[in-house]
Amino acid sequence: MPVAFAPCLLAANWKMNMDHLQTLEFIRELSLLLPEKEAEGSGVEMAIFPPFTSLRTAQVFSASYRCPLSLGAQDVSPHPSGAFTGEVSASMLSRLGCKFVLVGHSESRKNHHETREELVGKVKNAIACRITPILCVGEKEKSVEGLEEICSQAEEVFCDLDPEERGKVIVSYEPVWAIGSSVTASPDIIRRAAGALESDLFGKFGASPKILYGGSVNERNIESLKGLGLGGFLVGRAGLNPAEFASIFRCLAGKE
Ligand code: PEP
Repeated sequence: MPVAFAPCLLAANWKMNMDHLQTLEFIRELSLLLPEKEAEGSGVEMAIFPPFTSLRTAQVFSASYRCPLSLGAQDVSPHPSGAFTGEVSASMLSRLGCKFVLVGHSESRKNHHETREELVGKVKNAIACRITPILCVGEKEKSVEGLEEICSQAEEVFCDLDPEERGKVIVSYEPVWAIGSSVTASPDIIRRAAGALESDLFGKFGASPKILYGGSVNERNIESLKGLGLGGFLVGRAGLNPAEFASIFRCLAGKE
């Protein structure tokens, strides 16, 4: 059975923030701010990506508080199981209720020196366990060469996937210069990047992945970005605060 998605995904990458008690508190507050009924039929799917140590708490308490959240992990091993100290497999994430996993976030690329083979392994293992990989791509500097950089980051993974796997990947455009900064990419830059990724991946592989944008999105700028026709947004800092996360949700769901 194919995995079902709402038309718009609002994903919160918590990075190395939020221990299990803070995760519990976030879910409790979000469930008061956004009752399940309000999220139902909104066309917007909310997902949080806590550290591995908070996934079980998020799984248990989003169910018991009836908090309308999907779950994702921030990384996954490129191997299915075995002697890989410190790594977490896709099947373990699947048992914790993860529907999504980030692959190739710019911080992981930089800090863990991920190779192309590892990125491909992560994507393939996630898909084999029915987890949707969100492949992050982004240019380091703001420049005209940026489009080539992001297309080649996506291509180098897509070229080793089979057609069925290609249809199960989400791509998130995350310019490195916009992440964690005070500037978001302009609507024009985002439109150009999403268009370049779409035509490149369709032209070379016949793939039409959902495209997200991430990089300093918050409750003040979401209104100017929501009309871009994207598949959703990946937020960092703005996803740590339940009130701001709920307000971004309401803007995307057209409830403000
Ligand atoms: C991110 O790290 O994926 C991100 C989008 O962070 P921020 O929103 O804080 O720029």
